[in-house]
Formats: sequence, structure tokens, C-alpha cells
Amino acid sequence: MREIANYNLRDNNTFGIEAFCDRLIVYDSVAEAQKAAEQIRAAGEFLIIGGGSNLLLTKDFAGLVVTPEPRFGVEQVDEDETGIYLKCWAGTQFDDVIAYAIAHQMYGAENLSLIPGEVGASAVQNIGAYGAEVKDLIVKVEAVEIATGNVVSFDNEACEYSYRQSRFKQDWKNKYLITAVIYRFHKEFIPHLDYGNIRAELQQAHIDMPTASELREAVIRIRQAKLPDPKVMGNAGSFFMNPIIDRDKFEFLRQDYPDLPHYTIDEQHEKIPAGWMIDRCGWKGKALGRAGVHDKQALVLVNRGGATGMEVLALCDQVRKDVFERFGIHIYPEVNIV
Ligand SMILES: Cc1cc2nc3c(=O)[nH]c(=O)nc-3n(C[C@H](O)[C@H](O)[C@H](O)COP(=O)(O)OP(=O)(O)OC[C@H]3O[C@@H](n4cnc5c(N)ncnc54)[C@H](O)[C@@H]3O)c2cc1C
Repeated sequence: MREIANYNLRDNNTFGIEAFCDRLIVYDSVAEAQKAAEQIRAAGEFLIIGGGSNLLLTKDFAGLVVTPEPRFGVEQVDEDETGIYLKCWAGTQFDDVIAYAIAHQMYGAENLSLIPGEVGASAVQNIGAYGAEVKDLIVKVEAVEIATGNVVSFDNEACEYSYRQSRFKQDWKNKYLITAVIYRFHKEFIPHLDYGNIRAELQQAHIDMPTASELREAVIRIRQAKLPDPKVMGNAGSFFMNPIIDRDKFEFLRQDYPDLPHYTIDEQHEKIPAGWMIDRCGWKGKALGRAGVHDKQALVLVNRGGATGMEVLALCDQVRKDVFERFGIHIYPEVNIV
């Protein structure tokens, strides 16, 4: 177990924000996770992080930050007629798992390519993109219970996955240190191309029936064209959640905004893209101090260089206020603000 006192978290959050914690603990095995749990019990404040790609640090953290060792750890643990089971270390980059799977003829995660972050967090966040969600691959999540140090495991059903949600974000928040996730990949490659502009991207490359690698590369190209690379410009992907509103409110708004984009949830509810509203408020490409709204995707807030977490938070608050004043809709951050 590695321990570092007075640690600068700048390289542990994709916003690239400077913030110190009292102590960082890095666990590299189940036994070390148990020791880390012991340390957590002795400490007061603590924060569990993975790659910090869904995190906004607004100040120094007076407490313990715990994270799995960021390293590649993937092993095949089982196989059935149609699937292969990979057990992956919590600190493995999820995208490296996809690359490994495709290279070894295991399929089903191509559309999730290039989502930043680690395996452990994938099971917390139920990451998703282009019509795919990681919950459809997760078989089991292995963890250490912080309160007792016991080794536990949860099957998919127990995690109660739904859109970007799991029990790890709800009543299990801060209760477990995840050590590994077991995913089941498919032996047969069945491409899912009818989301976003995947087909258009493939057509441009003159590909009708892509291989898994070609589909992965197309998804990566689309994402690179649309989203800022955190290594170049700090960000945490989509900063806000898309709000769900009542049908009455939706019909009322549509009188003023006939082009209001929407996605029907059920008879009574519509989901509205927060990015569209932010854009309509004139924020796209604009800045407040050193924090800004990305010029290609208004849902993404960026660190334009040297921004503090408080500057990003001030921009977040201003954007929320403007959206509310114009549309009467509250939007909420998706990112963990600490
Ligand atoms: C450019 C960009 C694009 C993005 N695009 C997408 C996208 O398309 N789809 C999508 O779903 N998300 C997207 N995201 C968000 C982000 O990639 C995901 O939320 C990801 O799962 C975060 O992983 P992380 O390892 O960085 O976790 P962190 O942000 O560090 O943590 C996320 C949560 O998981 C918990 N956690 C992390 N590791 C552990 C562990 N070992 N044990 C227990 N709890 C843990 C943390 O406490 C926290 O609650 C994007 C982010 C960026 C920067």
C-alpha cells in the first residue's frame, strides 16, 4: 500500500485542478484494500476516487483520499458457449479492457470506446455511450466493505443499475472499496451502428460492415471530434444531467421554442438536452474567468488554463441560473463536486 502525505491531486482529476489532500492511500490488492478500509475507519473525512474524470475539486481536501493502483490487470476467469468472462482490476483503464477484449476476439463494448476512467468507477457510474451501457457486460463486482474489512461480491442484479445509476451512487455510497469487476464479453461480434453518427462516420470511411476494430476506431474518431481531450483542456465530460420535465411544461415551452429538442420518457415526461438550453443562453464557447463552456459541446465545462475549482463552480452556478431564468428548468451537475 502506498501512502503519500500532503498530496497534490492535480494529476488525479481530469479538470487538472490543483488541490491538496492530507493523505493519499493507493491499494494494489484485496489485502491492501482491507488495510485501506482500516485507515478509513480511523480517519474522519475520506474520498474514494478512480481516475477523477467525473470530479470537480473546489478546495483542498482535509482528509484521506483512497484510490486503487492505476495499473492494467485483466484475466480470463470463465467461459461458456457464447461468452468469455474477464476479471479486471479496479484500477485498470476501462478503455484498455475494451482494446484487450477486441484484440482477443471478445465483443460487446466497442460503442463504449474512449470513455475515460477506471474499471472500478465503471461499475459505480454505469457508464454508457452510443446506445451501450456497461451494466450489460457486468456480471459481478468485488469489493471490500469499509465498515468491517470483509470481502464481498455483488451480482449484477444487486447493483440495481439504471441510466448512469447504481446502488454504489445511492445507499452504498462510500461503503465499499471496489477491487475488481467481472465482465462477460460475447464471442460473436454483433455491431450496433444506429446511434449518433456512427453510420455516417463509417460511410465516410467507405465501410458497410465494420469489424470490431473498425467500429471502435469510428467511435473514437467521433468522440475526438466532439469532446475536448482532458490532457489538452481539462474537463469532466458532460457536466450537467439532461433534465426530465412534465409534459405540460414541455408543451408550454414548445410554444416559444418550436424546435425544442426532446426525448419522450413516458406519457407524462420529456427529457430535454441541457446542452441545447445552455447554447440558447449564449454560453457555448464563452468563458467566466479561466473556466469556459466548450465551443463544440455546451454540456461540457472546461478549464481554459489554470482555473480553480471555485472558478468552474462559479461558471456552473451562472449557467444554471441563466437556464432557469430563460426556460424555468433547473439543471443539475452530473459531476461529483467536492
Ligand atoms: C472527456 C470525457 C468524456 C466522458 N464521456 C463519458 C461518456 O460518454 N459516458 C459516461 O458514462 N461517462 C463519461 N464521462 C465521465 C467519466 O468518464 C465516467 O464517469 C467514469 O466512470 C469516471 O471514472 P473515474 O475512474 O475517473 O472515476 P472518478 O471520477 O474518480 O469517480 C467516479 C465515482 O466512482 C467512485 N469510485 C471510483 N473508483 C472506485 C473504487 N475503486 N471503489 C469505489 N468507488 C469508486 C467515486 O467515489 C465516484 O463516486 C466522460 C468524462 C470525460 C472527462
